Amino acid sequence: MVQHPPLHFAEKTPPGGSLAAAARQAQVAALNARYRHHAATDVLRGAIHDAGRIALVSSFGADSVVLLHMVAVTDRDLPVIFVDTGMLFTETLVYQQEVAERLGLRDLRIIHADAGRDTDGTLHRRDPDACCALRKTRPLQAALEGFDGWITGRKRFQAGSRAALDFFEVEDGTGRIKINPLAHWAVEDLRTYMEENRLPRHPLVARGYPSIGCAPCTTPVTPGEDPRAGRWRGQTKEECGIHFVNGRIVRTGTPT
Ligand code: SF4
Repeated sequence: MVQHPPLHFAEKTPPGGSLAAAARQAQVAALNARYRHHAATDVLRGAIHDAGRIALVSSFGADSVVLLHMVAVTDRDLPVIFVDTGMLFTETLVYQQEVAERLGLRDLRIIHADAGRDTDGTLHRRDPDACCALRKTRPLQAALEGFDGWITGRKRFQAGSRAALDFFEVEDGTGRIKINPLAHWAVEDLRTYMEENRLPRHPLVARGYPSIGCAPCTTPVTPGEDPRAGRWRGQTKEECGIHFVNGRIVRTGTPT
């Protein structure tokens, strides 16, 4: 990998900090230009080198083991954040423990969402956006305090809303960098990587779940369906894309 001088990041964007926001946008554009033709591992190393304090946010879902493995061989001490919404499949919780132990992740941070007012666990039926905000977005944003950016496992092929996904982007509302090293990967790339590195698959994949979220909001998909068709099936919702802007919850369409 070619070593580049670090791109220094501006201070965290203050509310209304248009100059800082513009600087952050320029930095992300420079990172995208720099790493445009690089492999996922180079993007990951570059992010660790160039993007300040970063963490991997992992759902320990269907393909998560790929990025978790890349982190383990690149920097085992990189913080890995896992949000336990309290609504996950038991299989996910067991898989999370097995994978973290096998890969030797040294800074795994398990965030247990406070169900707050959803004591009976039915909010997802009445208001899934509010449920995702309560159980996912809010705990994640709290866990990311102090970080300049975070690594996601999102890929272009997963949904139409991700078709133009870049390696680096600015997160609405927080000004953090979102890093997507696998943005250009296809299903075959993931499968090949897992086979070559003999990585364990989430057990629900073999039962028809190519994308795995919370148990009440995930169903299997049939052959030929969009891999994410089983997420919030029957609803217009595609992402957990709830963000906080100036203290208010907004639906941005940007996935978390
Ligand atoms: S995916 Fe469903 S259960 Fe999980 S936080 Fe979102 S609405 Fe709630």
